[in-house]
Parts: sequence; C-alpha cells; structure tokens
Amino acid sequence: MHRRLIVPGALAASLLLAVPASAAAPTPGAPGIGDPYYPAYGNGGYDVSHYDLRLTYRPATDELEGTATLLARTTQDLSRFDLDFLLDVSEVRVNGAKASFTASGEHELQITPRTPLAEGTDVTVVVRYGGVPSSKSAYGFTSWHRTPDGGVAANEPEAAWWWFPSNDHPLDKATYDVSVSVPEGTQAISNGTLQSRTTQRGWTRFAWRSNRPQATYLATLAVGRFDVTTGTTDSGIPVVNAYSEDLGDHYGAARASVERTGEVADWLAEYFGPYPFGALGGYVPNTTTGYALETQTRPFYSPRQFANGSNVSVVVHELAHQWYGDSVSVAGWKDIWINEGFARYAQWLWSEHEGEGTAQELADHVYASHPADDAFWTVGPGDPGPENQFHTAVYDRGALALQALRNEIGDEAFFTVLKGWPRRYAYGNATVGDFRAYAEEVSGKPLSAFFDTWLYEPSKPAAPAARAASLARTAKPAPRPESWKKIAATNTVHAHDAHHGR
Ligand SMILES: [Zn+2]
Repeated sequence: MHRRLIVPGALAASLLLAVPASAAAPTPGAPGIGDPYYPAYGNGGYDVSHYDLRLTYRPATDELEGTATLLARTTQDLSRFDLDFLLDVSEVRVNGAKASFTASGEHELQITPRTPLAEGTDVTVVVRYGGVPSSKSAYGFTSWHRTPDGGVAANEPEAAWWWFPSNDHPLDKATYDVSVSVPEGTQAISNGTLQSRTTQRGWTRFAWRSNRPQATYLATLAVGRFDVTTGTTDSGIPVVNAYSEDLGDHYGAARASVERTGEVADWLAEYFGPYPFGALGGYVPNTTTGYALETQTRPFYSPRQFANGSNVSVVVHELAHQWYGDSVSVAGWKDIWINEGFARYAQWLWSEHEGEGTAQELADHVYASHPADDAFWTVGPGDPGPENQFHTAVYDRGALALQALRNEIGDEAFFTVLKGWPRRYAYGNATVGDFRAYAEEVSGKPLSAFFDTWLYEPSKPAAPAARAASLARTAKPAPRPESWKKIAATNTVHAHDAHHGR
C-alpha cells in the first residue's frame, strides 16, 4: 500500500480516460508478483491499499459467502489483471462497471475490465463470491482447517485464497475491515480490534479492523465456539484472546500460555522497541494441525502446541514476529531468515530470562549437536530455497548466526541493531541484504564475509570461525539447556502438515 492523497473522483475519472494516443497499448498484469520461490503468488500491475470483506459463514455446512471490496492503484496500463482466489465468483465490478472474469491456473482469478485502466489511477474492485472452502485445493493442499464447530484460515505462505480474493504476497500490504456474520452463539475471530458486535434474528455480526499495513498471509479468520478473554497490557495495548470451548485436556495449558501474551509483548518491547500495533492477543481453535502462526496482532496456536503443558516459548516466538515478520515483512520469501532467525532468537532470550539456559548455551548446543556431515548445514538460512523455507536450519542455524553476530559486534551494537531494525523498516518490507547493511551501519564493521559463513555457506562454519565468534570454545559437547525441549516443540511452528511437499 502507499500512503497518498485521495484523488477527487472527477479527476480520477479523467485520469482513467486520459490515455495518450502515443502510449503503448495496455497489457495484462503479470499472474505473479515476481517471487522466484513462488512464481504464481501475488500479481503484477497494481497495489492494494485496503480490503473490505463483508461475509456470512455457516458452520454446519462450511459455506462462506460475501463481498470483497478492494481499493487499489494501478502500476501500469492494464488491459486485465489477476487476483489470487479459489472460491466461486458470481460477479466482479471494476470502478462500478461489470467486468468479465475467468478462473485460470491453480489459484488465479483473471479480471478484464470493460475499459483498460491507466497507470497510476485508483481502482475499486468488487467481487461477489461464495463456496465451501474445505472443498477447494490448490497444488493438492488446503489452508482451510475445518473444525467440528466451524473453520479456520491460517497458513504460510498462503491462506487467503480460501476466504478472500487478494494480491497474495507480503510485498503488497494493506489495511483490513473484516465483517463476518455467524449463527448466534458462535464467534468470528480475526485480526485487530473488534469495532462492533451486533445480533439480530439469530445471527451475530463481528466487525474487526486492522488499521496498520498487513500482509495477506497474516490475515486470519476463525469461526467457532470460543471463550474470549480481554485485558490491557502495562503499556496500554488492549488484548483479546480466544480459546475453543472444546480443547479438552489442552484447555488449561493453552490458556496458561496465551494469557501471558501481554506480559510477553511488554518484555519483547524492551528488546525490539514499542509494540507496533494497537491490538494484541492470540487464539486456539480446535484444529488437528500442529503449528502456530504469527497472524497479525492475534497469532494462531494449534492445541497440540500445549499437549505437554504450558509453552510460553511458542507465545514468545509468535509475538516476536509482530516486529520481525509482521511490521517488517520479507520482501521475497527467500528472506524468511529475517522472520524466523529472530523469532527463534527471541525464544533463546526468553530462556535466558527464565533461567533455563542462556542464548550462548543454546547456540553452543546447536553448533555441537550437528556434526559437519549433518544435512542441517547444507541449508543456508539466508536463501534456503523454497523446499527448505521452513527447515529447522532456518530457525536454529538462523538464531546461531545471530549469537555469532552478537559476539562479533558486541552486546551494545547488537542490541542497538535488534531495536533499531523494526523502527527503520516499520510497516514495510526488507531483505536479508538490508539487514546486513544495517548491522554494518550500526557496528561500523564490514560483515560480508561473516554473513557468508553463517547464513549462506552450505557447510558447517569451521572451528576457527566458530572460535572467532566465541562459539564452541571447548571440545566438550555443549550440554543441552533445560529450555531446549520446549523450544524444539515449536519446530512444527510452520510445518505444513497437509502441505504441497515442495
Ligand atoms: Zn516463526
């Protein structure tokens, strides 16, 4: 999204029609935004600033229907453009006029407006749709989790296709109004702040608002029977948490973990700077999934995360993402380390805070527990490849790289970087290269060779490099810190249980 002045309607209309005769003929927007990991994800030719979703959902039959209104701005002269979407579309309007549309590829909705759209103009797209999300798949998988009492959309890198049409890539962030009507006695949970809740004739409509830029994969919807708790952090952020009433034996442990949300967010703010959003919380639906996800302001947690008792470490991980991943998002999916390396490192800092092992001890353990011939070291967190985007190495080698950086540039510069980065790129996108440049700027040290060793080389950093980074200082295997098991339990954090297996 771009922050900009609103162009008055008459002027916008005149711009729209004022395609100079000399201009090149309008061309179709690309069916992908240009991400080499996922060539078909997102689209070219426009940039969305706001999604308004007005939906109705029937838990008994898993039917979702409604209207999406997208505010966008064109970035080229467009003869047609794509949205990413899987449900059945009944009508599309572009700037008020009916447009023709057709499904194409695995998840493309190709839209041809009545007249071409000129570059740099504001466009309103209205899509009326319906369908049964659980009946739809792309590449053989689904991100819609049917539950006994409803359904949940939460996955990475894709979840939107099953519930709203979008430009599905983190590069195109937008604000959201999500309004969902569900049978009375059922809740609809989404991101941000609950603006209103009204019940008539047996239906309750929940209106949620996300007023800060949000990536499409960080938008979430959960419908079911939830117990909702509310509170306010010491720093004044309102907290809304939701727990399925049907979590059974996991209920207590889930609640004992997620109710720590406000405390954890305030603690993280000491390292990362002020919490970037005006709403906070978490939710635990009764899914059979195993992972958790940093859905903006309100992370998704699978009940299984709490199978062995409370796990505040996973809450630390998902809340760390609110700075590292949600406010500052990847520019491309190859940049996943700027999300996962830091969320994992936050778990190490929490371990230290809890007296269950220091970040240094955890780093030493990672280094020592993977021998040089372990495939773990063949994955470079700085550009892991799409098939290894959520490999354990992105997390553990990624956090190890941060401890090595801390030892290389010293605590003062390191913690200045940790706190300064979320402010430098707030609500935007960044690359691993941007991070290296920022760390160099703050520390005054050239770090190119250092980053190659720790983030890119497909091999275990040799003992001299490790010693130089104050790691593995003895030949003795590093003992396993007490926090190791709980941190490892979050390794399914983004494991795609029912995923494409690419
Ligand atoms: Zn994560």
